[in-house]
Amino acid sequence: MVTVLNTVGGTPQPGERARHPEKAKRPDTPVVRKPDWIRVKAPGSPVYAETRKTVRENGLVTVCEEAGCPNIGECWTQKHATMMIMGDTCTRACAFCNVRTGLPDALDPAEPENVANAVEKLGLRHVVITSVDRDDLDDGGAAHFANTIQAIRARTPSTTIEILTPDFLRKPGALEVVVEARPDVFNHNLETVPRLYLGIRPGARYFHSLRLLQRVKEIDPTIFTKSGLMVGLGEARDEIMQVMDDMRSAEIDFLTIGQYLQPTRKHAAIDRFVTPDEFKSYETIARSKGFLMVSSTPLTRSSYHADADFASLRAARDAKLGKA
Ligand code: SF4
Repeated sequence: MVTVLNTVGGTPQPGERARHPEKAKRPDTPVVRKPDWIRVKAPGSPVYAETRKTVRENGLVTVCEEAGCPNIGECWTQKHATMMIMGDTCTRACAFCNVRTGLPDALDPAEPENVANAVEKLGLRHVVITSVDRDDLDDGGAAHFANTIQAIRARTPSTTIEILTPDFLRKPGALEVVVEARPDVFNHNLETVPRLYLGIRPGARYFHSLRLLQRVKEIDPTIFTKSGLMVGLGEARDEIMQVMDDMRSAEIDFLTIGQYLQPTRKHAAIDRFVTPDEFKSYETIARSKGFLMVSSTPLTRSSYHADADFASLRAARDAKLGKA
């Protein structure tokens, strides 16, 4: 569902529901020391506290917190919080993700308005909305995504909207409902190379995810498409090259690549830390393959710097079309 992750989780307190019950009996994976280039500043600025207050007052869930994103100090200091709609519990159980798993609650019909309130209060020029997987819903949550986009458009029409969606489990008509709401950016992460899907993203299918993004372009070529990969999971460089080519065949505009960080000992092990130079090299190659925009750094996450990157993405398309 989301390419993010770090270190929230661990042993539940007495009476507390386990965050990942399906992983409880898995053997522990080794925890490796992070290299210097992964270190981040601890959160705590006054603006960070203000962002947190706005999120709480509107009863919202953020992927920044649920995924234990390492960038939260930096992003929330700029009021860039990524809302996670449809609850805090995911119906999948990916091996890389720290979002709680289990049976989710019913949808909150007030949530689209609450998200719009928060976007207005935070004064966002660009917002990223993601969600848990909701395989329990007939439409996978597509209508709720569309309602949220519409609520933001009605409240703050100049805010550009980026969505990071699940795959909707191939539910008929779901994708179309979301595309018709016309987000500015449609992001869906491929997360890893196809060879590793069974272990890392067992509930998903690589070619379905790829096809979903291709279909967005077929329905509405004006919507930017974006996808992301985690590296350091055991993938080979050639496999990353192949995924880049597959993404370009599906006309994906924007590629993000970031280092996988293991949320807990029960999650997939880190195979290795990819060096900043290797990330730079992936960026150079991806740009040569025709992506309009590439973010490839150890701390890149789907929504990291999404505001500034959207401006660059739009400028790159304008330049390509000769409008600049
Ligand atoms: S990178 Fe994204 S998920 Fe992480 S803190 Fe920033 S906005 Fe939140």
